[in-house]
Amino acid sequence: QTEHEIVVLGDGAVGKSAMIVCFVFGSFVNEYDPTHEDSYRKQCLIENESVIVRLSEKGAGGEYEHLRRHDIQRAEGFILVYSTTSNRSFEIISHLHQEILQGKNQNTVPMVIVGNKCDLESEREVSINEGQDLARALGCRFFEASAKAGINVDEVFNTTLREIWQL
Ligand code: GDP
Ligand code: MG
Repeated sequence: QTEHEIVVLGDGAVGKSAMIVCFVFGSFVNEYDPTHEDSYRKQCLIENESVIVRLSEKGAGGEYEHLRRHDIQRAEGFILVYSTTSNRSFEIISHLHQEILQGKNQNTVPMVIVGNKCDLESEREVSINEGQDLARALGCRFFEASAKAGINVDEVFNTTLREIWQL
């Protein structure tokens, strides 16, 4: 059976683990942290074809650079996550995008940008327009999402999978 690998990248605490758990188990689980797990596998349907999707995550810090390079070479698709409550996490996205393009040495790399935690409206630091503008500039699909409220999580992973599938 065909297996596709997707890596979720972003600053610490933006909700990478929560997004993966929400997609794989269909719910928000506070106590369950897959950060240091190798990967998760989920069976998905795409255009009536059953495929296995392998999911893992990496932080954005310099200490993860070596591990990221390894992941970037191996994976086929990437989900770049920031938190709508953190400007700092947003500023990192374009660096990660650049790192992936350089690491892949390909013209087209399936990448989706996600502003997670959109349920925390009162703590918002990044507007939806800023997110959309960045995604447009980088040529990526964009979603605001909430792993906690279950908003747009399936859409993010399915869009990434579809981009891989269309290559
Ligand atoms: P990671 O370091 O990127 O893997 O982030 P985690 O998934 O561990 O999440 C960091 C913190 O943010 C945890 O306390 C989560 O419960 C919380 N969190 C994750 N996603 C959301 C979300 O969509 N909304 C809210 N309100 N909190 C979230
Ligand atoms: Mg994590």
